[in-house]
Amino acid sequence: MRPSLDDLARRLPSRFLTRYAPSPTGYLHLGHVVNAIYVWGLARALGGRVLLRMEDHDRQRCRKTHEQAILDDLDWLGLEPDVGPTPSFRGGPSPLRQSDCAAEYEEAVARLRTSACVFACDCSRRAIGQRAGTRVDVEPRYPGTCRARDLEPAPGRGLRLAIDPGDEPFTDAMQGPHAHDPSRQCGDLLIRDRVGQWTYQFAVTVDDCRQGVDLVVRGLDLLESTARQIRLARLLGRPDPPVFCHHGLLFRSDGTKLSKSNRDTGVRDLRARGMTGAAVLGRAAFEAGLQAEPWPIDAVGLPSLFDTTARR
Ligand code: GLU
Repeated sequence: MRPSLDDLARRLPSRFLTRYAPSPTGYLHLGHVVNAIYVWGLARALGGRVLLRMEDHDRQRCRKTHEQAILDDLDWLGLEPDVGPTPSFRGGPSPLRQSDCAAEYEEAVARLRTSACVFACDCSRRAIGQRAGTRVDVEPRYPGTCRARDLEPAPGRGLRLAIDPGDEPFTDAMQGPHAHDPSRQCGDLLIRDRVGQWTYQFAVTVDDCRQGVDLVVRGLDLLESTARQIRLARLLGRPDPPVFCHHGLLFRSDGTKLSKSNRDTGVRDLRARGMTGAAVLGRAAFEAGLQAEPWPIDAVGLPSLFDTTARR
């Protein structure tokens, strides 16, 4: 399945910006390559630009060695961003690396405080889950416990944004019209957790706003995050959200999701076995249903996968 290029061209500015945003919690696998094929393929087919951002907000799980390996693997695949790490990125701070952007996130919190209710919260995930009556592995809806407690921000306390009821409708470029009410999905949104880490939802939305991202292309597992990101972006002062495009995920033959430790689909491992970059891109495109056979395809050929008039 592929999005309509005509539809995207109608909805996006010329020279639009999209982004590739890996988290350096492990090595790239074929699932990440599929996402890269969509990102670069659609950008190159429509005259857009790609920004590369390192999403290392989770300080416990992210590693510099993984960041380095991801940059090397993208290079090897021939996937060059238009806005991306400069040579100094490897050794020094960058606005494209989330762990270097605390000041930007603090500034966004200050901006939110002027238009919305931001409050400190000392509830643990477990306590929220128990109150909400959900299993520990399911995202619990925050029941608003600390909203009116007026706690002072302090170490050991998280920071939340009050979320009012209301649907956020959007038309996904591949999944069609959707509407979710973030107040029912997650309740008051966690901005910073109790150990002081910025959350995925907050960091990704602030980044997409401040970097001027027009098109978000990512896997279907993040479709449910979209409404809350649209709401947050509006509260941050961005009335028109980006266009979202959620594509299918790759699964192993036993139905489980690919993970960064799967050796049979890791870009590093396929490289070590002598596959070329074009062969890896071709296999990922085949497994995603974007071509009928795993024919090798190099990075410059990716737009042809999305041109429905081309023969495959
Ligand atoms: N950093 C996220 C990941 O690697 C992607 C986030 C997004 O595209 O919104 O899964």
